[in-house]
Amino acid sequence: MSTSGQVQNRGQDQGRAWVLRRVRPLGGEPVDVLLADGVIAGWRPAGSTGPDSEGLPPGTTILDTDGLILLPGLVDLHTHLREPGREDAETVESGTRAAALGGYTSVFAMANTNPVADTAGVVEQVYRLGIDAGHCDVRPVGAVTVGLGGQRLAELGAMAGSAAGVRVFSDDGHCVSDAQLMRRALEYVKAFDGVVAQHAEEPRLTEGAQMNEGVVAARLGLPGWPAVAEEAIIARDALLAGHVDSRLHICHVSTAGSVDIIRWAKAKGWRVTAEVTPHHLLLTDDLASSYDPVFKVNPPLRTAADVAALRAGLADGTIDCVATDHAPHAAQDKETEWAAARPGMLGLETALSVVIETMVVGGRLDWAGVADRMALAPARIGGLKSPAADASGSVAVGAPATLTLLDPSPWQVVDPQALASRSRNTPYAGRSLPGSVRATFLRGRPTVLDGKIV
Ligand SMILES: [Zn+2]
Repeated sequence: MSTSGQVQNRGQDQGRAWVLRRVRPLGGEPVDVLLADGVIAGWRPAGSTGPDSEGLPPGTTILDTDGLILLPGLVDLHTHLREPGREDAETVESGTRAAALGGYTSVFAMANTNPVADTAGVVEQVYRLGIDAGHCDVRPVGAVTVGLGGQRLAELGAMAGSAAGVRVFSDDGHCVSDAQLMRRALEYVKAFDGVVAQHAEEPRLTEGAQMNEGVVAARLGLPGWPAVAEEAIIARDALLAGHVDSRLHICHVSTAGSVDIIRWAKAKGWRVTAEVTPHHLLLTDDLASSYDPVFKVNPPLRTAADVAALRAGLADGTIDCVATDHAPHAAQDKETEWAAARPGMLGLETALSVVIETMVVGGRLDWAGVADRMALAPARIGGLKSPAADASGSVAVGAPATLTLLDPSPWQVVDPQALASRSRNTPYAGRSLPGSVRATFLRGRPTVLDGKIV
């Protein structure tokens, strides 16, 4: 009966009204914002005269934010929630708890679960688990091929037409390497304005690969994952997307060459979008020298030149958005020797901080840019409805009150034991990162207040 209790609580919360005093939408001038009935009901410049309670709905809670930055609720196009199948590593409940604490209000749950999310039944199961957990919206990603096997198309139409309303399809973890299957998937998803999200990795070029192919791999004697294995697939798929006029999204772009190819594809007018992970914006393959498998990830950490190109590509919009590729792993799969360790890193609770460090601190993105790359663009790519703030910094009255309140200034040391995820494989353990999510609102209901789950 806990589920119905939660539903009831959510209903009550949605009826509650909030005033966010002295928030700064996208870092602009402070305003007081009224949230009521799940939407942004109005706003006025902070410090306007009149008693706080004047004209407010009964029972309104006033939250004095003291100048916190208001961002639209963050959207992650690339999350591994591990349920069903690997609940020892993460569950929908624990993963979405981590998401809310990181400022996220929607996550797209990747399909490489057990069973694979390749039918209407499985995507609806994940979708409902998200509703039951209630920390943020869960949008299941459907597999492109049955069982991620790369042999025949999954029932894309049935998943699109299910209660989960799937719009993003991906075999992530595996590349759809068969060009004819990829072409057919791109053609198929046009019927419901879907998008195929490709894990770009030419499989023959990465057999046995353990890290980025380059000078560090040569020194360590580890088999390399060459940049061309990613770039060749992106070039091929951009050509296919252009040929059939469909939407292609590139997961976790990691090389300078990939940025160039995506820039070229966009210049052609093809409908190609791309994401970069926080870890590829900050970390380099030098970290493999430690042989600490927490730094093993697919695609691998690359060179400093790649990092610079990814930052520039995200700043100029060639790369549309940041996506976490949050990939929790149980200790026995990760805390082992490098060659045996599973690839992947946690990301949800640190993503905004890494973006602040890599993009905001150096002046590459302002807060409107952060809102675009972490909320508006991924929402658009994933087919979500309009977020709460527009890129000009105005608060959109009538929009869903789906918001994140951020204190950008404190630097905090990442403590893996303090994370909400069930797993501990953060590459930032012991590292100081800027910014702290103080509150997250989902359609007017707080999921996080004072930095803690509500
Ligand atoms: Zn992937």
